[in-house]
Amino acid sequence: MSTTNILIVEDESIIALDIQNSLVNAGYTVIAIATCAEEALDLTAQYVPNLVLMDIRLRGEIDGVETAEKIRREFNLPVVYLTAHADENTLQRAKITEPFGYILKPFEDRELITTIEIALSRHKAEGAIRLALEREKELNQLKSRFISVVSHEFRNPLNAILFSTELLERYDSELSAERKHGYLQRIKISVRRMSQLLNDVLTIGETESGNLPFDPQPIDLLQFCKDIIDELQLSQAMHCSIQFSHSHTNFLLLENSSSPCLDENLLRHILTNLLSNAVKYSQQGKNVELNLIYSNKDVVFRVQDCGIGIPISDRSRLFDSFYRASNVKTIPGTGLGLSIVKQCVDLHGGTIEVISEVEIGTTFIVTLPLKHYPLTYEENFSH
Ligand code: ADP
Repeated sequence: MSTTNILIVEDESIIALDIQNSLVNAGYTVIAIATCAEEALDLTAQYVPNLVLMDIRLRGEIDGVETAEKIRREFNLPVVYLTAHADENTLQRAKITEPFGYILKPFEDRELITTIEIALSRHKAEGAIRLALEREKELNQLKSRFISVVSHEFRNPLNAILFSTELLERYDSELSAERKHGYLQRIKISVRRMSQLLNDVLTIGETESGNLPFDPQPIDLLQFCKDIIDELQLSQAMHCSIQFSHSHTNFLLLENSSSPCLDENLLRHILTNLLSNAVKYSQQGKNVELNLIYSNKDVVFRVQDCGIGIPISDRSRLFDSFYRASNVKTIPGTGLGLSIVKQCVDLHGGTIEVISEVEIGTTFIVTLPLKHYPLTYEENFSH
């Protein structure tokens, strides 16, 4: 059972010892006795008790009411007043400090304990309500942010589509085949960007509600990576080419061949986001590399670019939804991709690491543990 630590603030030592006895007999721990406001504040900071029993009249310039107010404001701890003074003015001042109880001296042990227990449970209940309210507030902020980021990100490609179609419609006969091709390409890219954005929004929705399924199945990793790169190079206006390499460490071909298992859908989110970021945040013509290192135990994906890099001050929040580093300037984005990547890596029980230097480049290293399932006879000998 956890103990309840109580700080007594009482400048009359005999009364303080009497209270201490009552509390100890009732099973509480008295962590200290303070005799003035300054000492009470110091001891509160040092021990952070569960509750403070506060005499209103204290020696020195600061009385118990003011001390209680400071404790409430700075430490958010429950304070119960214990005093012989109950004149109207004192009561009014004490009320403002939202005390958790008020006991008049002389008091009965039973009264003291009941008041302490009520104060502790009220404080606990209020803490839970405060947490729920904070969470609600965060969610509301997240929702507003979400709406503004997503609508902004939709508006750009929509405008590009509108602009291109209008030009094609109006100047059809005057435009060269090359210009027309350019506008059509722009429309295609914009549609793909919106569809990617929609996918991200849906995936974030699934991760937030804990509904993103994790279903690892045997996977041909090399082919999978090659397909993802081909898809990206075809679908995006790739201004960088992606080089693929692979190697293995301690990879044993087991007697009963087995196939590594990963969730394809999640792995697609991981690689697509990391690779398209690597391209997006690199200058035209720079290379992006995907390196795959696998063993029987795990698989490591390294996505390396020579792009704008990520400032150190932004690294800790990189995987938060909507967070974008301070150096993105006008490069478009929502700050959702890495948050999705992190969730997908977590579902695999893996890790993600980032090494980056501003204006030199960035490497993301994802390590996923592998499970192996024996191949069927047909699968084993079909290659
Ligand atoms: P975004 O849609 O903004 O690209 P992400 O969640 O994918 O969102 O990434 C979050 C932020 O991390 C980006 O806005 C960018 O600041 C930074 N970032 C991610 N990948 C890279 C990279 N390869 N190079 C530089 N910065 C990156």
